[in-house]
Amino acid sequence: MALSPVMLQYLEKKRENEDAILFFRLGDFYEMFFDDALIVSRELDLVLTGKQCGEAERAPMCGVPYHSADMYIGKLVEKGYKVVVCEQMEDASQAKGLVARDVVRVITPGTVTDANQLNDGKNNFIASIYKGESLLSICFADISTGEVIASDLPSDFSRLSNELCTYSPREVITNIDLSVKNELSDIIKERLGAYVGRGAESESFNYETASAALSARYKVDIASLGLSFSSIIATGALVAYLEKTQKTDISQLKKPKIYFCGEYMEIDKNTRRNLEISETMRKGEKKGSLLWALDMTKTAMGARMFRRWLDLPLTNANAIYKRLDAVEELTREFVIREELTEALAPILDIERTMTRIVYKTGNGKDMRSAAATMGALPQIKRLLSTFKSEALVTLYEKLDTLDDLFALVDGTVVEDPPFSVREGGFIKEGVNSELDRLRHIMKNSKGMLADIEAREKDRTGIRNMKIGYNKVFGYYIEVSKGSVADVPEDYIRKQTLTTGERYITPELKELEGTIFTASDRINSIEFEIFSRLCDRLSENIGRIQTAAEIIATVDVYLSLATAAVKNGYSRPEVDIGTVIEIKDGRHPVVEKFCGETGFVPNDTYLDTENNKLMLITGPNMAGKSTYMRQVAIITLMAQMGSFVPAREARIGVVDRLFTRVGASDDLAAGESTFMLEMTEVAYILRNATSRSLIIYDEVGRGTSTFDGMSIARAVAEYTAGKKLGARTLFATHYHELCDLEGEGKGIVNYCITARKRDKGIVFLRKIVRGSVDESYGIEVAQLANVPREVIKRAREVLSALTSEKTGNSSSKRNELDKTAPQSFSIDDYIGSEIIEKLRMTDADTLTPLDALRLVYELKKMLQ
Ligand code: ADP
Repeated sequence: MALSPVMLQYLEKKRENEDAILFFRLGDFYEMFFDDALIVSRELDLVLTGKQCGEAERAPMCGVPYHSADMYIGKLVEKGYKVVVCEQMEDASQAKGLVARDVVRVITPGTVTDANQLNDGKNNFIASIYKGESLLSICFADISTGEVIASDLPSDFSRLSNELCTYSPREVITNIDLSVKNELSDIIKERLGAYVGRGAESESFNYETASAALSARYKVDIASLGLSFSSIIATGALVAYLEKTQKTDISQLKKPKIYFCGEYMEIDKNTRRNLEISETMRKGEKKGSLLWALDMTKTAMGARMFRRWLDLPLTNANAIYKRLDAVEELTREFVIREELTEALAPILDIERTMTRIVYKTGNGKDMRSAAATMGALPQIKRLLSTFKSEALVTLYEKLDTLDDLFALVDGTVVEDPPFSVREGGFIKEGVNSELDRLRHIMKNSKGMLADIEAREKDRTGIRNMKIGYNKVFGYYIEVSKGSVADVPEDYIRKQTLTTGERYITPELKELEGTIFTASDRINSIEFEIFSRLCDRLSENIGRIQTAAEIIATVDVYLSLATAAVKNGYSRPEVDIGTVIEIKDGRHPVVEKFCGETGFVPNDTYLDTENNKLMLITGPNMAGKSTYMRQVAIITLMAQMGSFVPAREARIGVVDRLFTRVGASDDLAAGESTFMLEMTEVAYILRNATSRSLIIYDEVGRGTSTFDGMSIARAVAEYTAGKKLGARTLFATHYHELCDLEGEGKGIVNYCITARKRDKGIVFLRKIVRGSVDESYGIEVAQLANVPREVIKRAREVLSALTSEKTGNSSSKRNELDKTAPQSFSIDDYIGSEIIEKLRMTDADTLTPLDALRLVYELKKMLQ
């Protein structure tokens, strides 16, 4: 059965874009058909209809109005779909035969530019990975801000997955086959949830295509970009892909920034998660993360840069020193800090605004937002002029206040422009003389219409006639029924109403023509001016982007200084030595939740000689994990250039940070917790260097006691030993490991103390030299409301076991069996649960209904 021509056209476009949802423009709607319609109606909860398309059966169809399409596209992209917009390329009323249609936009999660779909404080990266025979390169780009970052990596995938987790791209293109399930594809698809196309782009991963894309884009000799052979392929393939999807000039794309292995502190993906750097482990939220506690930036650009600094601490002590100098100077200047904060207030997201301006998808409001930002620059520059630290002086010197562009935009666009750029009304008076003349005509035409009305009233004697306007008939003279007989002959009847007649006259028609033409001309002149303004700004994009970067940097420094003052942080000393010495260190996030009881500060001393490994024992809940994390976080903060939560800190630069902490919740399918733990330990032992900082929390816990203890001991020995010798914090339940202290390996015992009280245990939270021999497990269990019966029994078992260990009674175990309450059956357990439940109930506040519910509940427990 033959299909209708429009459906044939649809199918042709669909064939070219099989991997995408095709938004097919039909009049005022974008329609989707067949499977696309099924998906979209399900995902967006839209009504599914059908279209008679020539086939026996109707094609499933659903549609969205064209003017609100962006919202629907946004939702689909958010859900991980690729959307292709197929537009009508000619006016349907003027087209001969089938209206021409073509793809004008391709939107994927990594190429979004619509402000509503982007998170202000976060880059929206797309990653490109090229794997050659022995080479591996990666490139990240954020098309909404223009950033491009490239690096070469060692060709094993562990570093690659760390980089991916650092930048968390929303989309990945690569020449590696990601349809094969392995660690890499798991990370990309499961952990990052990144969009992966069908791999059609993999063809661009060759030198010829990639280098051609780069030279066409940057119009320079590609050797001058400083990229390696393989990063030319990774970067070039990405540029080619972006050109293809954006279908417009992408001159906002900056030249690639290249970074090298070792330039930043390497933080592997588990550590990033364990330390809760930018999101919490459980909920994946920003609240409760380090970023949340530290970020006090005022602008979206600053927020994005802050995240980047936090994600990528430096390793060059000199560069860190310069950052710290800038922060310190700002901490000292209260007044200027306040003034700078105020000066940053009008700054808007000019990086992302510029992308819309380059694409010409922006409007008058974007222009005003750019002007607001540019208008704030002179004051920021003035404030920066007072500083002496090298970093701030450089920012001052480099800051171009863009006065010419500000004058241009501010002088052209009105203060409060309308949303549309097609309907005029946003260009200021005095910008264009033709525009002013036409506007004058428009203004006068009102008076001229009134003139005509007055004159016609006089001429005809019809006093109640009036001139009106509607979209279909244009301007008309309306005469009521009673006066129709007095209408002169030169009136031409246009429309009959129940109440009267509507006419035009040649004079009115002529004036109407002038008004219409003027209004059309005004719209097109204004659009032309807007378009030229976009071009002028686009030509200057480099200057604008540099200014934006400087503003972001100032914002980050200011944020670091503000946080330092507000939270009582102090300047760390960062050097190339190997000592980490912290006095009265705190955990910057935990201390925020500590309330009245306050956070107990603690000291740390690590080096690569006699104090390599702190072996930490102490009861559960004592604060071991918090303490170890705080050491890692203080180091990380210091290396990003931040002040730190400590009275004093000296940090010998750390090259890599590793943590092996408790049960991680992303258990790969089929792997046991213990297997996962060992994989992580293996990764650390293979990748750490003597400059690294390692945290082990309860290694060996996932297996039997002897196994676990042996492994823990071997790991501690190896880590502190000659081969590795890294600075390490090692928390363990195996008190036996405390023997290692005397063996000259640089292992030192510490413990976090607790004190027994009549009713349980008091945590002192203070770390001290030495080891504890009690683990207070039972007290902690009691604290956690384990039923009394069980606690009591545990005490009996413990006391029997301890005396057995000390060897004073071989028959203790028998005795233990005897003391075992015969009644300790499951019934008793339930009984004690019920008693516990009753104990917890406050009878005084119980409503009758609640009491009844309680009885039901207790009865249910009995069953
Ligand atoms: P552990 O690892 O020894 O089981 P955690 O480090 O998880 O103990 O600490 C348990 C709780 O104790 C934390 O949630 C925190 O609220 C509190 N805590 C830890 N360290 C301190 C401290 N130095 N000062 C105050 N409270 C602390």
